[in-house]
Amino acid sequence: MIYFKTDEEIELQRESSLLVGKTLAEVAKHLKPGVLTAELDKVAETFIRDHQAIPGFKGYGGFPGTLCISVNEQVVHGIPGNRALKEGDLVSVDCGVLKHGFYGDSAYTFAVGEVSQDVKLLMERTKACLYLGIEQAIDGNRVGDIGFAIQSYIDQFGYGIVRELVGHGVGKKLHEKPEVPNYGKRGNGIKLRSGMVIAIEPMINLGGRSVTQEADGWTIRTSDRMPSAHYEHTVAIRDGKADVLSSFEEIESVLNKLNG
Ligand code: MG
Ligand code: MG
Repeated sequence: MIYFKTDEEIELQRESSLLVGKTLAEVAKHLKPGVLTAELDKVAETFIRDHQAIPGFKGYGGFPGTLCISVNEQVVHGIPGNRALKEGDLVSVDCGVLKHGFYGDSAYTFAVGEVSQDVKLLMERTKACLYLGIEQAIDGNRVGDIGFAIQSYIDQFGYGIVRELVGHGVGKKLHEKPEVPNYGKRGNGIKLRSGMVIAIEPMINLGGRSVTQEADGWTIRTSDRMPSAHYEHTVAIRDGKADVLSSFEEIESVLNKLNG
């Protein structure tokens, strides 16, 4: 069943979602060669708890971290640990928080120092397709319109769109109905209605679309070990215009300061 949110509930969920963006901005400040992924996880957990919220992923299905940190060929669900980041790494950081009973869920992919031109383009285009999907998240459209917008943009580059993992409804639970695939046909799937809140999260591979689960039972990586990028926003379905509840603004202002 699909849970519809009232305007008041959506505002609570905006607060959770904005806190995710602020948390990822804190992580961005610490993301440099030599940092351990476990150290980034600690930064995020402390920041979230300091804001009277609960890390949304920690303990979810037994997941041990506050963040999912997925490096290079890892797509999603990487477990923070003793891995030190290196110059040239591509790092997807996914974060969820629970505050006032509602989850926010958002992810951003960072470059550690300089990455190759191929990887830069993969990042730009993966972020671009997220916003193309979001444009379709309006009352009266169908879930397939989101996937179609993402797929029809990405296919021209020959990238692989991960199919095994999809976006999702989000609210009092981290994962609610409906599933929101990053591929699809225009006009297909369930109808989007005002009050639905969904996480849209394209996972795009530089190589083929096939993915494999690592022996840790969590980490998903590309089967061909080519790099993968992942961006995610929590979005409320509205009449006429999608309402993006999470934000990359703080993250990108940190990145601009570091690079400027
Ligand atoms: Mg997420
Ligand atoms: Mg998600």
